[in-house]
Amino acid sequence: MNHFEELRALDEQYGMQNYQRLPVAFVKGDGVQLWDTDGRRYLDFLSGISVVSLGHAHPEVAQSIADQAKLLCHISNLYYNDLAPRLAAQLDALIGGGGRTFFTNSGAEAVECAIKLARRYGQAHGGPECYEIISTYGSFHGRTLAALAATGQPQKHEAFQPLPRGFRYVEFGAIDALAAALDDRVAAVMVESIQGEGGVIPAPPGYLEAVRDLCTEREISMIVDEVQTGLGRTGDWFGFQAAGIRPDIVTLAKALGNGMPIGACWARDEVAAAFQFGDHGSTFGGQPLAVSAALAVLKIMHDLDVPTLAARSGLLLAEALAALPGVASVRGRGLLLAVELDPDIDAATVATKCLENGLIVNAVTKSALRLAPPLLVSEDECTEAVEILGESITTVRSLAESEISP
Ligand code: PLP
Repeated sequence: MNHFEELRALDEQYGMQNYQRLPVAFVKGDGVQLWDTDGRRYLDFLSGISVVSLGHAHPEVAQSIADQAKLLCHISNLYYNDLAPRLAAQLDALIGGGGRTFFTNSGAEAVECAIKLARRYGQAHGGPECYEIISTYGSFHGRTLAALAATGQPQKHEAFQPLPRGFRYVEFGAIDALAAALDDRVAAVMVESIQGEGGVIPAPPGYLEAVRDLCTEREISMIVDEVQTGLGRTGDWFGFQAAGIRPDIVTLAKALGNGMPIGACWARDEVAAAFQFGDHGSTFGGQPLAVSAALAVLKIMHDLDVPTLAARSGLLLAEALAALPGVASVRGRGLLLAVELDPDIDAATVATKCLENGLIVNAVTKSALRLAPPLLVSEDECTEAVEILGESITTVRSLAESEISP
């Protein structure tokens, strides 16, 4: 058994089998590059699903984590630490000011916090029956029970009934359907600026603005889940900024720690004030080690103006991808892109072929591949990735054709 086979056997014996993994184990990263157990190099055009936005093993982030690990990793949230308030202040400035943050360890926990806060605020202002959350079909908000209930993919709910009550769904982009669903029981509307897991589907023009207007009119909280889209990925600091709006609650995670697990739920002051002492908490949330990574991430993102880099590289990459044979269209913004393949090509087969050829992308739907490379990706790396993708599509297509006509 080689090293990889040993790892796979251990995982099959001792790991819960809830992921159908591809046959590779990574041991080292540097920027956009990864290496597997055999020393083979790959270009990572997924960034651990929009997480490693500054690239693998970023030296300044690594240094910050190493320094902090030697100083103080963890104390309880029963006490202050000297980093979390600074990070909260920086996030507040980025979102536009006038809010407060609760730190978590993941996206789903940031969403849980948003749901609990929106309910608390809704019930305080609209009465005990005002606790429903409206989200959109095709959305993804996480795997914990309430985040799963908020996720507008009923097939994912089936195995886990009964889920928490108080969630309803409307079509993404259909403002009339949302308006019709808003009654006195609704505490909040939760949307993504671009549905990530749902297939990289940007909100249609005018939709987020209209959701904002409806929520303001009816005094309902607008939650924007920026776990996948936040922190430069779409070419803006946050996806909702392209619509010129400001939500009442924003959830973040993934890119915030560049691989260190940290998430955040921001809310404007009046909404945040609905939490009383003891309403919510976390052992690890906001601990110095994770926050040290996030502070380094925000500093680098500011210094390099990473959102602008993502916007520029995204345009070039999208243009090159759209010109490939077998590509029907490219959608998304910045460096969160989906490549819709011609109808006869299976996206999962192409993703597997790309992996064999040294490129990491994933099939976000049956017919579309998601590309979300580190935001510091170079033009040469983009060119190399597009070449590998093009070859992979051609190979998969010719194999499929030879199967049809032997
Ligand atoms: N919200 C969105 C928009 C996501 O894309 C994800 C994960 O993909 C989550 C929430 C859940 O985040 P996590 O997997 O960190 O719990």
